[in-house]
Amino acid sequence: MTRPQIGIVGGGLAGLSAAIACGDAGARVTLFEARTRLGGATWSSERDGLWIDNGQHVFLRCCESYIAFLRRLGVMDLVTIQDRLDIPVLMPGRGMARLRRGALPAPLHMTGSLLHYSHLSVLDRLRVGRAALALRDLDLSDPKLDAQSFGSWLREHGQSEAAIERFWDLFTRGTINLRAHDASLALAVKVFQTGLLTDPRAGEIGISKVPLSQLHAEPAARELERLGGVVQTSAPVEAVECGPHGEVSVRSRDRVFPFDAVIVATPHDAAAEILPDQAKVDREALRALGKSPIMNLHIVYDRVVMDEPFAAGVETPMQWIFDHTAAAGLPSGQCLTVSLSAADAYLGVSREKLREQFEPALQRLFPAAKDAQIVEFFVTCERAATFRGAPGTASMRPKTETGVRTISLAGSWTDTGWPATMEGAVRSGNNAARAALLSVGVRTGLPVAVAA
Ligand SMILES: Cc1cc2nc3c(=O)[nH]c(=O)nc-3n(C[C@H](O)[C@H](O)[C@H](O)COP(=O)(O)OP(=O)(O)OC[C@H]3O[C@@H](n4cnc5c(N)ncnc54)[C@H](O)[C@@H]3O)c2cc1C
Repeated sequence: MTRPQIGIVGGGLAGLSAAIACGDAGARVTLFEARTRLGGATWSSERDGLWIDNGQHVFLRCCESYIAFLRRLGVMDLVTIQDRLDIPVLMPGRGMARLRRGALPAPLHMTGSLLHYSHLSVLDRLRVGRAALALRDLDLSDPKLDAQSFGSWLREHGQSEAAIERFWDLFTRGTINLRAHDASLALAVKVFQTGLLTDPRAGEIGISKVPLSQLHAEPAARELERLGGVVQTSAPVEAVECGPHGEVSVRSRDRVFPFDAVIVATPHDAAAEILPDQAKVDREALRALGKSPIMNLHIVYDRVVMDEPFAAGVETPMQWIFDHTAAAGLPSGQCLTVSLSAADAYLGVSREKLREQFEPALQRLFPAAKDAQIVEFFVTCERAATFRGAPGTASMRPKTETGVRTISLAGSWTDTGWPATMEGAVRSGNNAARAALLSVGVRTGLPVAVAA
């Protein structure tokens, strides 16, 4: 039997995972990527001898598809995952509190550290515990959840502004890329039920030890080549076309490439532009998914100022701070990455102004920073880092299958039930690969279907 030919548009995690799953099942894959590099929203660049990611990325132990993808690429030794969930939380003037897993079974495994969480009043700690139990009992399949904001639900459940800012937003901003007040309750329920309230080990945090391009793009490209696939970079796709008898093709740089099936794994706004009418995908809904920015500040000190691998901040502009020294390849001193999710307020602010605001804020959290010299301070900003996981977005996220059997969708914006994350991207890639392979008659070696 001749190998089915599958075209994949977009070389982010969704496209790469789809491509490898299709290759593993025996298809011949051609991957089109508009940019000069693979990796999509996860990429790295060299700057004055340092390797800097476009933005710090973390994952949790519950990100099963993403971890399986890393395993498939043979790069599990390039990441580190906590043995026990443990988050140092810093607050100016109040020092550090820790949120960590205790010995009790879920959902009580966080009870001990919550009871000692000194950034909240005792009453707020008890109320957080009660709301967490109520959150665990919500039915994720209830469509009403997506009609409400997480913040309004928290207020209804007795949460003070301090509790929202100093506990709930720690997780909501980092996972949904919005504050609780702006985020869909449905997405928040998914995050908290999956990451914190069911399996005590689910929330353990994983981080790459190497630049993201070494973790994803480079090994995936090698693997695709080994599977006989073709990777075309600097190859923007202008249209996915569908002929009168259902034959599909991809138009890129004025050439038409026919395929047996096509997977569109671009961001949602690009998919709205290139999909054919026959796919019957609601373009307006895709555009309405919107975008939410993430900004990262990269600060190189002449000495070590933070002695944790990462920390979260409350009542400070600093949301999460990571020690990026080893991954950056910095021989001495320390390279910190300050990750700012839902960063709308910082868009257009100059590097100088950001430094004026963040340098003293860093000194308030890390006393050692007062005597240290900043050797480098630079900023990376992704204006369309994720779709905007606001109330009402669940119904706008399309399924994998389209109106054309041989055209499937992938991307962290598709209907995975997850917020826009690496896990969502890989799940969507596996789902699209499965749909594409089935559409061309492949019945063995299919990736396992994962429910939303
Ligand atoms: C700064 C930042 C920090 C983040 N932090 C985290 C985190 O900590 N944890 C986490 O899980 N997730 C995080 N995310 C989200 C995560 O990176 C994304 O959800 C995921 O990588 C998206 O993958 P994707 O393949 O769906 O889309 P993308 O990565 O956007 O890939 C789509 C690809 O399609 C290409 N493309 C677009 N148009 C065309 C065209 N016409 N023809 C050909 N190619 C095209 C694009 O160039 C791109 O390479 C973060 C994102 C950013 C930006």
